[in-house]
Amino acid sequence: MPIDQQLIDTLAENSVVVIGAPYDENSTFMLGPAEAPGKIREALHCGSANLCSEDVVDLGKEALFKDLGDMAFIPSQPPLVEIEGVVDQLLEKKVRVLLLGGDHAVTPGVLRAYHRQYGQVNILQFDAHPDLYEEFEGNRNSHACPFARIMEEGLAKRLVQVGIRTMNPHQRKQAERFEVEVLPMKSWAPAMVPKFEGPLYISLDMDALDPAFAPGVSHHEPGGLSTRDVLSVIQNIDAPVIGADIVEFNPLRDTSGMTAMVAAKLLKELASKMLNTLHETDGGNE
Ligand code: MN
Ligand code: MN
Repeated sequence: MPIDQQLIDTLAENSVVVIGAPYDENSTFMLGPAEAPGKIREALHCGSANLCSEDVVDLGKEALFKDLGDMAFIPSQPPLVEIEGVVDQLLEKKVRVLLLGGDHAVTPGVLRAYHRQYGQVNILQFDAHPDLYEEFEGNRNSHACPFARIMEEGLAKRLVQVGIRTMNPHQRKQAERFEVEVLPMKSWAPAMVPKFEGPLYISLDMDALDPAFAPGVSHHEPGGLSTRDVLSVIQNIDAPVIGADIVEFNPLRDTSGMTAMVAAKLLKELASKMLNTLHETDGGNE
């Protein structure tokens, strides 16, 4: 058992639960994101900042905010299967999962588990890349492919992508095929982000941010979002945020430690938003 079952059993309904998935073996260019969860926690608790979100939710005092630590993978089970199973277990406890990757390949398993509990959900993806490759270098589980899997399995009611600046003809065809709503950086304005109806899952690839703000990612792609852009989009969401992930932070490239602080800040804002929209799904809103 990767995570202490007793710990899971004690989780209160409606908790927002942080869990690390330190797995990056489907990365294509370099490894490193497996080190991310620990570094994000270190930044969160480093003492230079408090644990409050900008909406003044104090995660240090919030009883419904829990950090379960990292999953430990066992040799007999593929990690992606393990991740999906752990999220299944957590969602059965009626909590909201805030998962720390790992690379973006972890996300389809998380969303399969969400689909079993909620049916099709809305997804807001922050990313420099559409991640819609049918396969990449022969690997259908590559971190270049997660949203192709999610869409062909029918897990999403709606997929909106923000921060995109690496579209190519193959992925454009895929985006059309799956009716993905791509908001390219080329014409970025915060007002382009639509209002969502019903439960929303947020998948936040750190390379959506401009490398000037977040250099600690494997794929540096200039021309991205500012930290404030991402914060504003999150803060302006009024749909219930039922789950989220922060992926692709690569500590090996984070020479200043700044990206860890940005990821920790985004964790606080996502957790705060998830806690603030809890009441909206009380009563089993599907
Ligand atoms: Mn990605
Ligand atoms: Mn990316």
